[in-house]
Formats: sequence, structure tokens, C-alpha cells
Amino acid sequence: SLTLGIVGLPNVGKSTLFNALTRNNVLAANYPFATIEPNVGVVPLPDPRLDELAKVFSSEKTVPAVVSFVDIAGIVKGASEGAGLGNKFLANIREANAICQVIRVFDDEDVIHVDGRIDPASDIETINTELILADLQTLEKALHRLEKEARTKKEAKPALDNAVKAKEILDAGRTLFQAQKEVDFEALRELSLLTTKPFLYVFNADEAVLTDTARREELTKLVAPADAVFLDAKVEAELLELDDEESVRELLESVGQEEPGLYSLARAGFHTLGLQTYLTAGPKESRAWTIPQGATAPQAAGVIHTDFERGFIKAEVVSFADLTAAGSMAAARSAGKVRMEGKDYVMADGDVVEFRFNV
Ligand code: GDP
Repeated sequence: SLTLGIVGLPNVGKSTLFNALTRNNVLAANYPFATIEPNVGVVPLPDPRLDELAKVFSSEKTVPAVVSFVDIAGIVKGASEGAGLGNKFLANIREANAICQVIRVFDDEDVIHVDGRIDPASDIETINTELILADLQTLEKALHRLEKEARTKKEAKPALDNAVKAKEILDAGRTLFQAQKEVDFEALRELSLLTTKPFLYVFNADEAVLTDTARREELTKLVAPADAVFLDAKVEAELLELDDEESVRELLESVGQEEPGLYSLARAGFHTLGLQTYLTAGPKESRAWTIPQGATAPQAAGVIHTDFERGFIKAEVVSFADLTAAGSMAAARSAGKVRMEGKDYVMADGDVVEFRFNV
């Protein structure tokens, strides 16, 4: 499954956040499909639609989709110089599908900031610089080969042109993700450049920042087009110790939050990875399934079982809104809201589906 790799400077709260994420593994362990490794934190994607579906179908339980985060340990500064730990750091990032940088914006004299002060723009630049330098090394090695190939094969020309363009962007200190409209990532795919990965930023904040709308807007702008998430990692860890709703609500209120930060982190992670969900429902369970945006009906069926994709005949589809408005599958059918879709159908988020297939 797709993962986000957590990176950040020392002392920004990565371990604190990651501990909160792995505590969730205890919950996620109920879901047999989630294989859990020690350096992976699995967060359920909050989805209020599941509870509504469970009512309509009298399901025994609900099973949400999950998002996985990998803790990427290792040094940051100097990583691209390739010293032991730095190599491992970059190799781990290469394996992740998106990069999630934790940035400190909380104030605490007892916690030393590596650069001596809170400066989110500079923290972002430090990480970007290492990734940019690593990509430049990859590109420099590849350019000779690509030039040679382009001389004899015209199919190799797009790869060369895009590699040249990518080098210009990186030389100017920008990540390829920031310049995604200017380069064709597909043509560069075989190089697995680190800065083509989508970025997500987690601002580890205190109450002062969490309740300061102007400051949050400014930080959101700083990282656009990437998603920004605001949370207090220490509070997130404390929330998981609480077992009654009232105490959870009080603690959240004390930092001016309406919901746990892990909820927004899960949603942003899911969005950053380019994922969406569709739903299935029955007396046993109401469940959300994860698919890439743009997946077709047979591909969606394949997420449940590969045989479903191979033997796909058609999908019976109703939108969540139509189904709940009708109140039951039978009522939705008589209202003409249930469609039969074929193998070319592109799934929409929140489709409630039943697949027909040959085994
Ligand atoms: P890492 O080096 O990025 O993994 O950072 P840690 O998670 O180890 O956190 C470094 C220190 O900052 C620890 O003493 C944490 O308790 C503290 N810390 C982490 N998050 C917060 C926070 O949101 N607020 C405050 N005040 N301290 C925090």
C-alpha cells in the first residue's frame, strides 16, 4: 500500500507525532488487511458516511480506509553527501510515495531548536536542499546516458528534454513538485527523483498558533500547493490516553481544536497520495475501500479480490447521497438511482457498489 514518509529536523516533534500514530495501530490491528510494521503508523480515515451506511444496512461493524505513515529516521543535513546514515535516509525516502515534513511552530524554551529559532521557511529549505542535491546527482549521472540515447532513438528525446528542464528547476533551488506544471513527471519516472513526490506539511503548533487564523493562513500559503495540517503533537499523544468523549472534547477545546489533529492528518495524507474511497455495505460490515483517483470499476473490484477484477462483469452503483436519501437499496432501485456500470466506468468518491463477476 502507499505510504507517506515522515521527515523533519531534530526536535520538531516527529517521534511524539509518530508515537501517536503507532498507538493507533492498536486500533488498526482490528483490521486484518493492515499489515503492521514497527516503523509504520496506520491512521484510520474518519468517514461519517460509514456509520450512516451501517444504519441503512444494519451492519454489524464498520471498517474505514487507513493511511500509512513511515518514520524515516536518519540525519537530514548533509544527507546528500552520502555518508552512511544519509544514504539510508535518502533510500527510505525513495521508497515512500509522498513526503510528510513535520515543522516546529510551538514555543517552548525547554526544547532546543537546532537552528536556534523557529523559522518554518528555513526548515523547509533545509530539507528541500538535501532532496534537491540528491536529485541533481541522479540527474547528472543520467544526463550522459540520456544524451547518448537521444542521438540514436527519437523516443528517448522526451526523457532528455525533461531531464534538462528538471535540472534547471533544481539548480534554481525549486523542487520538481513545486514546478509540476513545467515538467512531465511521466517522462522522468525511471529516475525516481525524490522531489517529484507529493509533499505534505505538518505544523506542530501550540495553542497560540492553533487559534491564530492569520498565522495559519500565512503558513498554509508558505507551503502551497502542498496540503498543510496543524496539530499539537503532545496533545495528540495525550488524547489517545483518554477513553471518554467528554475529556477528549475538553482537551481539544483547550487548544481551540474541533477534532483530533490525526483526523485532518489522515485526510490530508489520503489526498496527498491521490487516493479516494468507494463503499460497500451489507449486514456483516459497511466498509470503505481505497483506490487511486481515476480508477475504473474493474480496478476497484480488484482491491477486494484479484478474482473480482479478472472476472468483472458489471458494477451496481449508487451514490452515497442518493442511497441515504432513498433510505434503502430497494427504494433507491425503484427511484431509478441505481446504475449498472461496465468495465470503463471511472469510480466517483463515495460510490456505494456491488460487483457482479464470474469466478
Ligand atoms: P524529534 O526529534 O523530531 O523526533 O522530536 P521529539 O518528538 O523527540 O520532540 C522533541 C521534544 O519536543 C520533546 O521533549 C517533546 O516532548 C517536545 N515536543 C514535541 N512536540 C511538542 C509540542 O507540540 N509542544 C511542546 N511544547 N513540546 C513538544
